[in-house]
Amino acid sequence: MNCPYCSSQESRVIDSRSLDEVVRRRRKCLNCNARFTTYERIQPHDIFVIKKDGRSEEFNRDKLFSGILKACEKRPLPTGAIDKFVDTIEAELYKVGKSEVSTSYIGDLVIEGLKKLDHIAYIRFASVYRKFADIDDLKQEVDSLAVRGELTPANQLPLPSSDAVNSLAGHKIR
Ligand SMILES: [Zn+2]
Repeated sequence: MNCPYCSSQESRVIDSRSLDEVVRRRRKCLNCNARFTTYERIQPHDIFVIKKDGRSEEFNRDKLFSGILKACEKRPLPTGAIDKFVDTIEAELYKVGKSEVSTSYIGDLVIEGLKKLDHIAYIRFASVYRKFADIDDLKQEVDSLAVRGELTPANQLPLPSSDAVNSLAGHKIR
């Protein structure tokens, strides 16, 4: 960080404040004593995803996007809705401010978000992430959502029949 007055690289932080997604720092140049302010953003590349087997890999937006896209296949979502949804998840991850997150943490975020976006996509995604141990768990979840009215907001299709859920789950869970 060069001093804007003398270009010296030596400065001291005299005050540091966290704003929403930015850290604001007051600095004092050690060469000319000028004071200046820097704003530091969290770099999108600093998040590593810890997988179930313990390996980690750099967070990959495209990968997240394609997983969600698959769950939303043939669903009546407006153009750009998936992109916007992925943005929300991504922003949420950066907001947490951790350099490492688990796949299940991301999975939970997606599942919670999809629950509001589209119930079929939600069930598909949750099935893939094995949130439902078996078909009974899945049915129970669908039933409880129906009871709470969360599965049938005005902009969604009506709740699928029990048979439809069975066939939907059939090729995800055996
Ligand atoms: Zn200076």
